[in-house]
Amino acid sequence: MSVPISILDEASLRDVAARLGLPPWRGTQLHEAVWRPGVTALDGVRQLPPAARDALGAELRFTTVEVAAESEADGGATVKLLSGLDGGLTVETVAMETRASPRRARRATVCVSTQVGCAVGCPFCATGRAGLRRSCTAAEIVDQVRAASAALHRRGLGPVTHAVYMGMGEPLANYEATVESLRILGSEAGISPRRITVSTSGVVPAIHRLATEGLPVTLAISLHAADDELRDRLVPLNRAHPIDSLMAAGTAYAEATGRRLSLEWCLIGGVNDSEEQAAALRRLAHAARAHVNVIPMNVIDGSPWGPPPAAATRRFLAALRGVRATVRDTRGAATEAACGQLRATLETRRALLPDGSLGPPRPAATRSAR
Ligand code: SAH
Ligand code: SF4
Repeated sequence: MSVPISILDEASLRDVAARLGLPPWRGTQLHEAVWRPGVTALDGVRQLPPAARDALGAELRFTTVEVAAESEADGGATVKLLSGLDGGLTVETVAMETRASPRRARRATVCVSTQVGCAVGCPFCATGRAGLRRSCTAAEIVDQVRAASAALHRRGLGPVTHAVYMGMGEPLANYEATVESLRILGSEAGISPRRITVSTSGVVPAIHRLATEGLPVTLAISLHAADDELRDRLVPLNRAHPIDSLMAAGTAYAEATGRRLSLEWCLIGGVNDSEEQAAALRRLAHAARAHVNVIPMNVIDGSPWGPPPAAATRRFLAALRGVRATVRDTRGAATEAACGQLRATLETRRALLPDGSLGPPRPAATRSAR
């Protein structure tokens, strides 16, 4: 069984080299190549002589992700990958570059999937439809970042600066692999936890545990409803972990890590867009000192639900006055993505002004909510 190269640190790769009768510094050379975006196969590690490549290749697997399809939007600044995994399974991975502005450095963000499918079964989400096929390994999660980095590199973009765990699956239902992948991204890829957001539907015990890992990632809670009756329907996991316990966990997480909590709200016309819901969300966000991210629902096949009309969205946002909030501008939603939140974070958005009205649209690169 070959070992995925991306989960090994430099010392482990030196050990492998030594065990194969190679000088240990061959392991260091290999380690340097693993996260270089232009290198997509062991054959591409030119510093290694062919015999060393062969010997290492028999023990190590260069990547666990084979890109099965690739599509572009935003003139190539957004790349969506269909990442092929073992067993003929695929997950979606999105890479998005935002240019530098006077107020913000350029960034390139990768949105990773943590599971093939999802067991939570939120009725507005395409991923949950077929249930859970299996969880991704840590290697499969970090190899998605490497594949996305290579895709950006081919377009003259990158390197990757940020990661969001907002693709397919529930990261905290795949806890060990998620945490291992966060550590690898920090230590090997140079993407520190402070530049990573993990989105969860609310696995409360795992939130408490994550707070103890010494990994200060931003936590985004997919709230979507401000009372248990509605949230039981929209996020079935709520029946096990109701809103009170979830908000307490999120607040404790923010206190332990010093990271501001995000609350995500997929806005669904006639379902969770009332002013009562907004007022209740406002109270929860205030109490948790959280940032609110409103995502008008992406329409999915077979669901009668969709985003509310613009006037209802405006009313909802007005009722959030006083809370730090952003809403995605749905215009030009060219790549429908499992990574709904990636789009919400990076696409053109409108700022919610203190009086509750919407400011003029501005490119994401010129403003930061976080
Ligand atoms: N399972 C995790 C992370 C993956 S889903 C979670 O639920 O948080 C990433 C985000 O996309 C979540 O906030 C989810 O609610 C949102 N999302 C899912 N389907 C969506 C849709 N059809 N429209 C808008 N956002 C959606
Ligand atoms: Fe799973 Fe998140 Fe989709 Fe809910 S929204 S089904 S938790 S991936």
